[in-house]
Amino acid sequence: MKHLTLKHEFVEYIHDNLKEGTIYISITFATVAHKCCCGCGNEVITPLAPTDWQLIFDGQSISLYPSIGNWNFPCQSHYWIKHNKVKWVPILSKKEINTGRIHDSLIKNLYFSNTIRHKKNLKGDS
Ligand SMILES: [Zn+2]
Repeated sequence: MKHLTLKHEFVEYIHDNLKEGTIYISITFATVAHKCCCGCGNEVITPLAPTDWQLIFDGQSISLYPSIGNWNFPCQSHYWIKHNKVKWVPILSKKEINTGRIHDSLIKNLYFSNTIRHKKNLKGDS
């Protein structure tokens, strides 16, 4: 069952037996842990660091940035946790993936055309 809201709990240590629908926050160890919000039971550990996740506690609820993308789990869940609410990101449709590919190839073309231009400039200099 997909969770739409979470409870948060500040703990010193992250326990082994995480409860579904609860997000555990250890400030001591700069770690946040919860069970995947899709209900698959996999534990999601999100370290807090400038290059990993950031936690916002507004006194009542917590938010995590950036989003949680469980690409390593079979469920492939992707969601944001904002103000203790789970905002599900829809799984990309084939059309969207294709659009992404087109975007990639555009960037590649741009890159190559820049390279070619650069090479031409080099030739011009010599
Ligand atoms: Zn899951």
